[in-house]
Amino acid sequence: MDLPANYTFASDNTSGACPEVMEAVLRANIGKMPSYGDDPITAQASDAFRDLFETDCDVYFVFNGTAANSLALASLCQSYHSVITHEFAHVETDECGAPEFFSNGTKLLLTSGPLGKLDPAAVERTVTKRRDVHYPKPSALSLSCPSELGTVYQTTEVAALGAVAKRHGLRVHMDGARFANAVASLGVAPAELTWKAGVDVLSFGGTKLGTPVGEAVVFFNRALGEEFAYRCKQAGQLASKMRFLAAPWTVLLRDSLWLKIASRANALARRLGDALAVLPGVRVLYPVEANAVFAELPEHAHETLRRRGWKYYVFIGGGARFMCSWSTTPEDVDALVHDIREAVPRAPTGHEHRIGQPS
Ligand SMILES: *Cc1c(COP(=O)(O)O)cnc(C)c1O
Repeated sequence: MDLPANYTFASDNTSGACPEVMEAVLRANIGKMPSYGDDPITAQASDAFRDLFETDCDVYFVFNGTAANSLALASLCQSYHSVITHEFAHVETDECGAPEFFSNGTKLLLTSGPLGKLDPAAVERTVTKRRDVHYPKPSALSLSCPSELGTVYQTTEVAALGAVAKRHGLRVHMDGARFANAVASLGVAPAELTWKAGVDVLSFGGTKLGTPVGEAVVFFNRALGEEFAYRCKQAGQLASKMRFLAAPWTVLLRDSLWLKIASRANALARRLGDALAVLPGVRVLYPVEANAVFAELPEHAHETLRRRGWKYYVFIGGGARFMCSWSTTPEDVDALVHDIREAVPRAPTGHEHRIGQPS
């Protein structure tokens, strides 16, 4: 008999919001306050971002990541411009053309690069390929950190892209839907991975981290965000009860809660990756650097896992994708490993070996 659907590893947004965050939302539900972001909670959350990034950045709160990315990119571009990004980037594959829509036609120029990361040389080639008036003028670069394949750019890698961008007059956007997982993985100061490496604007993900709803858009280059509030309003992204989008961040950014929960998710992903790497017939496809594990499993194993209720995507990154979140437990990981072990064939001779583990 098939077991009931189990969404534990399907995505990091199948989890609810973490309890500390919900308590902050409840605390924000007291009394009357100014609307549209003029309230003290929004001010407090914005200040927390400025402290975190050690700079006087401008902060906006929107409902979701697609809006954060598209509206941020639209602020960097005119309609006749282009944005260079990775072929696997969420802005290209999963936003239904919103970046093009909100920028009135800015084109995404796709490049490839190993492990889901932009390659500075490929970016350089894309920028310099055409300079004529018949081609949309490159004006921005968008990178996802962590990447859609669960890999993380080193600060030096971001800085190298930042340098190429600067050389060619491109603005830099970072899609940080899982920014917390990247910072937790690297153990660097958030400033080092962003504005100090040349990032102008960051989409800082809250939902996958543990809020019920809401992402922050952080402009390090404040001139670029000057009219951002109008853009949000026009796009239907200006929350009138802004305090509820802001409140989660007042606790997430306090005492490093954001990093604690991201580190735990990363550690569980490593636990899963390490366990899968030694199973015969299973190949872990990418280094496990954040909270995602991608694995190639024998075709029939998917059938068995599905019957046992496991839900996961197989169309991202060319394998099964398993995501860990703030609410994943070691027992969840062990249960999945147990079922995958049963779903893959036994090693015929009894001596198991790792196959094709990428270095
Ligand atoms: C989830 C995600 C987003 C945001 O998606 P929404 O569903 O619009 O909130 C953006 N970028 C990446 C890389 C993501 O994984």
